[in-house]
Amino acid sequence: MSFEGHMTIGGKPVTADDWVTVPNPAHLSSVVGRFPSGSAAHAGMAVEAAAAAFPDWRATPVEERGALLTRASAVLAEPPGDWVSLLTAENGKLLSESAIDFAVAGQNIATYASHPEWLESRIIDDARGRLVVRRQPLGVCVGIVPWNFPLIIASLKIGPALLAGNTLIIKAPEFGPLATLQALGEMASLLPPGVLNIVSGSGPEIGRALVTHPGVRKVSFTGSTETGRQVMADAAGHLARLSLELGGNDAAILLDDVDLSEQAIERLVTGAFMHTGQICIDIKRLYVHDSRYAELVEKLSAAVDQIVVGDGTRPDVTMGPINNSRQYEKVTKLLAETKAAADWVQLGRYAEGTDVADGYFMLPHLVLDPADDMDVVANEQMSPILPIMKFSSDDEAVTRANGTEYGLASSVWSADQERAFALADRLEAGMTFINAHSIFALHPDGPCGGAKQSGHGYEITEEALDSYTQLQSITNTHI
Ligand code: NAD
Repeated sequence: MSFEGHMTIGGKPVTADDWVTVPNPAHLSSVVGRFPSGSAAHAGMAVEAAAAAFPDWRATPVEERGALLTRASAVLAEPPGDWVSLLTAENGKLLSESAIDFAVAGQNIATYASHPEWLESRIIDDARGRLVVRRQPLGVCVGIVPWNFPLIIASLKIGPALLAGNTLIIKAPEFGPLATLQALGEMASLLPPGVLNIVSGSGPEIGRALVTHPGVRKVSFTGSTETGRQVMADAAGHLARLSLELGGNDAAILLDDVDLSEQAIERLVTGAFMHTGQICIDIKRLYVHDSRYAELVEKLSAAVDQIVVGDGTRPDVTMGPINNSRQYEKVTKLLAETKAAADWVQLGRYAEGTDVADGYFMLPHLVLDPADDMDVVANEQMSPILPIMKFSSDDEAVTRANGTEYGLASSVWSADQERAFALADRLEAGMTFINAHSIFALHPDGPCGGAKQSGHGYEITEEALDSYTQLQSITNTHI
C-alpha cells in the first residue's frame, strides 16, 4: 500500500515541497504512504481560507449548519473499508479499534448537529425593556490532534466549533495522519469551501504557526501536558482562547469489597490495555486493597495472558504494536528501568509468524507493588505496562491517587455504589468511573475534561460550546 495524503485548504487539495514517509508500526520494512509537511506559509493560507469562509457560515441559520454537518458526518460514521485498514496500517491499532475511531467520530458530530437549541438566545422582557443574550461564534478556530484516536478527537472539535458558526483548521497528528487527512478532506468537501480545513506537518512548525497566528481566535489542543504548556504560552501573545485536553496518569482504586468476577476483570483489561495502553483515559496506576491483592494479581494475570500481540489487521491479534518510534523508545527504556527495580511479570504471546524485530511490539507487563515514586507509577506511560500497588485504607488510596499533577480520569471499584460515589467525590479528576474505566464508559451527557495539569475546558456536551462562543448581551432597557 502506498497512499499519498494531501491537506485540504479552502476546499482544495494542497501539497508541500517536503513530504514525510509513514511507516507501518507492525511492519517497519514497509511504507504505508506519505503526507505533505506543511509550513508556516500553509498555516497562513489556512487561516486566510477559514477567515474568508467565516461571514457566510456564521450567517447560515444554525439549523442549516446542523443539517450540513449531519450529512458530512455520515462520511465518518460509515467509512469505506479501506479507510479503516489505512488507519490500522499507519497507527497500529486493531481494525476494530480503527472502526471505533471512525464510528464514534461520526456520532459525536451528528450529536452536536442535532442540538441547534444549544445555541438559542436568552430573551428577557421585563419592566426595564428587553435583554437578548446571544451565543456568538468566535471566528477562525484551530484544533490540534494527537495520534492515538485522531478522528474521535478531531470530531470533538469539529462538532461544537462548526455548529456554533466558527470556521476551523484541524492540524492532523504527526504520526499516522493519512486516514485523518483523507476522511476529513472528504468531509470538508461536503461543507462550503474553507469552513473545515485540514493541514499536516510538524507541531513545532505548522502547529506553532497556527497557534501564534493573530487571526486565530481559539485553539483547542489535545496532546501532552508538556506541549500544552508551550501552546498556552504561545496563545498568550494574542490572547487566543484555549481548550487544553492533556495527558493523564489515571488511577483505578479497587476497594476491599471489589467484585473480581470475570466480567469485572475483562473491564479492567480493556481499561488498561485497549489500544496497547495508549489512550489518555486508560488505567495507568492500579491501587488494590491489600486483602484482595493476591486474588487480583492472579485473576488479572490469567486474563492478560490471553492477549495476542501482532499486526492489528489479523483476526487472531488482540493487541497491536506501539504507534511510533518516539513512543517505542520511551516505553522500552521505561520497561528496562522498571524491570531492574521492581518485581514484574511478562504475559501474553506474539501471534504466530510475527516478525517481532520488524515492528514496535511489546508484550503486556504487570509490575508488582512498585514504589509510587518510580517512573512507571509517577508519570504517564501510555504503554501496555501496568503497575499494581497495595493500599490498606480508603484514605491512603485517595491520597496516593491524588498525589500527581495530572487529573484526567480515575475510577473506583466497589460492590457498594454509595461508598464508591462518596470516594469518587474526593478524587481530583475531571472524570471518575465506577466499576469501569474506559472510553466506552463515558456517558454522552457527561462533560469530558481534565483537572489540574490535565487540561482546561470540556468536550463532548453542551458545555463545550461555551469555549467556542462568546456571549453578547444586547439591551434595550430604560432604567
Ligand atoms: P504531542 O503533544 O506530542 O502532540 C499533539 C499534537 O500537537 C500533534 O499534532 C503535534 O504535531 C502538535 N504539536 C507539537 N508541538 C506543538 C507546538 N509547539 N505547537 C502546536 N502544536 C504542536 O502529543 P502526542 O504524543 O501526539 O499524543 C499523546 C499525548 O496526548 C498523551 O500525553 C495523551 O495523554 C494526550 N492525549 C490527551 C487526550 C485528552 O483528551 N486529554 C486525548 C488523547 C491524547
